[in-house]
Amino acid sequence: MAGEPTAGQDPWFVTRKLRDGVWLVAEPWHVYCFLITGAERAVLVDTGTGIADISAPVRRVTGMPVLVVNSHAHDDHRGGNVFFDEVAAHPVAVERLARPVPADRVGAYLTVAAEQLAAYETALALDDRYFHLFTADNRPRPLPPGTAAAAAAPIGAGPAARPLADGEVIDLGGRTLRVLHSPGHSPDSLCLLDERDGLLFVGDTLITGDFWAHTDDTDLEAFVTSLRRLDGELAGQVSRVMPAHTRSCEAGPHLLRDAADAIEAVHTGRSTGEPGLDLYGRPVLRHRFAEFNILRPVA
Ligand SMILES: [Zn+2]
Repeated sequence: MAGEPTAGQDPWFVTRKLRDGVWLVAEPWHVYCFLITGAERAVLVDTGTGIADISAPVRRVTGMPVLVVNSHAHDDHRGGNVFFDEVAAHPVAVERLARPVPADRVGAYLTVAAEQLAAYETALALDDRYFHLFTADNRPRPLPPGTAAAAAAPIGAGPAARPLADGEVIDLGGRTLRVLHSPGHSPDSLCLLDERDGLLFVGDTLITGDFWAHTDDTDLEAFVTSLRRLDGELAGQVSRVMPAHTRSCEAGPHLLRDAADAIEAVHTGRSTGEPGLDLYGRPVLRHRFAEFNILRPVA
């Protein structure tokens, strides 16, 4: 991965320059958000869980006006909207983003985050001996003070979101981002194409770990259609895809076609899932593919 770690030790966020004008702002093992700066303003793709104030690392990178673009309205992509003045999203997301994240969902997430941190302590010993996957950059962080699951409070909605049309171009000054609606993982998913460097910011439309396709929000047929459209329309224009979760914040553009093929195989019954659990411990069927898994509900 290109780029160097930045100075400044934030206890919760990892901020790293990936390219000229492109920064990763990560909550390790939770969410990858991306900051893209032009000559006049910046876009922050997703605002993460809201467990900590993501505007602090963003402001260390840029003093320019920041437009938040939510890749979709799921809780872990919009929690930090409250720290910004300007938000835009898919038209379907606008109404969802107007509602706060309720305390019970915040508490459930914090419970899992605490379990994950405890599991990391166990995993680290095995990792040191066998796998060597954890680095200073990707180790899970202790939850910030005052974020006990039992005392979880709702996360505020933040400013009203402006709807983004498919094909709309956001001009940052010398750098443009093209909006591409991509329903499938959720009806309100969108991607942003950085037209200069060919970076495709995909939210949960592509994942390097478990694709969440087992909630009521997922429409497999729409998912395949969106991925085939992106793969066809953007042929030759995408250098890297930038997913929001799990193993890596970057992947090759081949993931568009591989994911379309895999989701189609699941949808048409050509793939068999294994019983397993999702992050919350709920039963799922896990369909395994070369670079990712697809979770489906247990029938
Ligand atoms: Zn999602």
